Amino acid sequence: MKSVRTRFAPSPTGYLHVGNVRAALFPWLIAQQAGGTFVLRIEDTDQAREVSGAIDVMRETLQWLGMEWDEGPDKPGDFGPYVQSERRTLYLKWAQRMADEGLAYADIRTPDELKALREDAKSKKQAFLARNYRPDQPQTWQPGMPLRFKSTPQTYAWNDAIMGELSAGPEAVDDFILIKSDQFPTYNFAHIIDDHEMNITHVIRGLEYIASMPKYLNLYDALGFDWPVFGHAPHIMAPDGKKKLSKRDGAKGILQYRDDGFLPAAMLNFLASLGWNDGTEQEIFSRSELIEKFSLDRVQRSGARFDEQRLLWMNGTWIRRLSTSELYDLTDKPAFWPQGIPSEYDNSSYKTEVLALIQERLKFFAEIPSLTTYFFRDLPIDSTLISTHKQLKKFTPEELTTMLRQTQANLVKSDFSAVDLQGRLNDLLQETGQKPAVLFSLIRIATTQAAASPGLAGTLAVIGKERSLQRISAQIDALAA
Ligand code: GLU
Repeated sequence: MKSVRTRFAPSPTGYLHVGNVRAALFPWLIAQQAGGTFVLRIEDTDQAREVSGAIDVMRETLQWLGMEWDEGPDKPGDFGPYVQSERRTLYLKWAQRMADEGLAYADIRTPDELKALREDAKSKKQAFLARNYRPDQPQTWQPGMPLRFKSTPQTYAWNDAIMGELSAGPEAVDDFILIKSDQFPTYNFAHIIDDHEMNITHVIRGLEYIASMPKYLNLYDALGFDWPVFGHAPHIMAPDGKKKLSKRDGAKGILQYRDDGFLPAAMLNFLASLGWNDGTEQEIFSRSELIEKFSLDRVQRSGARFDEQRLLWMNGTWIRRLSTSELYDLTDKPAFWPQGIPSEYDNSSYKTEVLALIQERLKFFAEIPSLTTYFFRDLPIDSTLISTHKQLKKFTPEELTTMLRQTQANLVKSDFSAVDLQGRLNDLLQETGQKPAVLFSLIRIATTQAAASPGLAGTLAVIGKERSLQRISAQIDALAA
């Protein structure tokens, strides 16, 4: 058996979004699973779209996700170069051979002439097929002239590892351009030459190429190339499920998620779950489980909807699996903490206490500042927190003040350990005769000036005795004003 070689063949647009990276993930998983080789090939034959620095972005993205390529630009293997613009003599060599063998012909007709032929077909109510309009006496092909494949129409039946058994009649086979007038090959030609020359065993790519399969198969046959395994992955759809995901629907660059504090394990899990499951209810898969369990025949055939809420949920799940010290290390960057933390709180032990409290509800690291400011500094009293609170707005300032005074009187006796505080808070429910939704909300607002916080006892323990009691006093003063 041939050893498995898969490839990711992006065009260098300098940006890898969820869709592009999933296109890399499936072949990467197939290669890992088989102990094979994952090749990165840069498809830069459309020079107009070229973006400099694109390879660096790819490397950074795939490195972050732990999806390193085995061969590619700057990782030389036996099949380089791995950038199409550096392989032009190879394409020209194959082009010459095809021209010599009568498998392709020079097509020097202008775009206007070709347009006229299309209109001719239209007026006859026929689908336009270039092979019906081959030039009578083509010139001898030379580089600089477009070269067109001379197809041999026939019916094809083939298996797609994702889409299943497929077939198409001879009308799907047509002549197509192999080499353009700028002497660059088309994608249609270059990828087939490269996949053959690079011994690629599995061609896994997006669904947009499936309609061209009969043409491609015809070219494989004309060249006498074996067919690799083909797998066309369904599109990733926008959140509304109606159209393909695009930048406009929030298809952020993957590195943006890294910078916002998403975990690579969660991103990998999320990307794999876009259109794939293992047939059970399991949703959380580690890298090694994915490598073990992934299979192309369990990729769903319809489009997978991009659901950022699901990504947030998965990331939260992966965050909860971290130890607090791992969590501290991963969040140890200024961007993940409130600005201007006073020096007495700017240390790993205090920050770790804060992290341990919020870990349960944390979805990504960039939201840490908004969840934790009150642990680091006193926030101004926000009277709307009470006036808009469903329960608290029913009480007069005097009633609220009485509850806060009772709280003060009790908590002043506490050692402010979470356990002691929990007992006292429960006692206070008895003393005040209030429900938790009233009393604890009031104490939470007074001590944090936030509508939500982690468990109250734990929160007060981290804020500490002095600041908690001071903040309650400040709230009492504000109620009197
Ligand atoms: N360069 C093509 C793209 O970016 C690659 C398609 C393929 O994998 O064959 O869509």
